[in-house]
Amino acid sequence: MNHKKRDIADLELLGGRLCLDFVNTVDWRGREIPQEYLYTYQDLIAWSRHVGLIKNREAKMLKQQADLHPLEAEKVLIRAVGLRETIYRLFSSTAEGVTASSKDLAAFNKYLSTTMRQSRIIKTIDGFIWDSDGNKDELDWILNPIVRSAADLLVSGDFKRVKRCADSSCGWVFLDKSRNKSRRWCDMKDCGNRAKASRFYKRARLSQAG
Ligand SMILES: [Zn+2]
Repeated sequence: MNHKKRDIADLELLGGRLCLDFVNTVDWRGREIPQEYLYTYQDLIAWSRHVGLIKNREAKMLKQQADLHPLEAEKVLIRAVGLRETIYRLFSSTAEGVTASSKDLAAFNKYLSTTMRQSRIIKTIDGFIWDSDGNKDELDWILNPIVRSAADLLVSGDFKRVKRCADSSCGWVFLDKSRNKSRRWCDMKDCGNRAKASRFYKRARLSQAG
């Protein structure tokens, strides 16, 4: 992806699943100092708006609530970052062919039980859907769709298609939907191109030296 520092609401959505795009709110995971995009509860609102989880009206309501309850907002932010890192570890262990740690799974299940407590099934014209908005006076319900997305992906056969970008310093994750499971980069235009350029540079130097 585009590794220039940018706003959380400009982040590319290349993960292919909501939970993976949430994991990708950190850049350069493989570097000593990763680039964090989730600094405040307001960032969480901006990202949720960016991915279409909430509308402007809900974003405004949440912002007002967060301004009224800054300590609560801070707690939700910490929970959000914890959730993100748990999801990252669960899926990156899968990507490496390693069994997910039971500690991470237990931590994820705690998030899941909160989400389920705040969830119900509602009727629509076309049938039934999940409604996990919980109590909208609370600040943590915006995490629920992310938790559900990760749970759905974990129990689906697709979890085996989750990969980490082949540029180990990038650290973004994505669902490889290609038929022959050949996708290597989060973004061919960015990480893929950079790798190509660096291979070209090395080859050119070798041939000069030779
Ligand atoms: Zn990448």
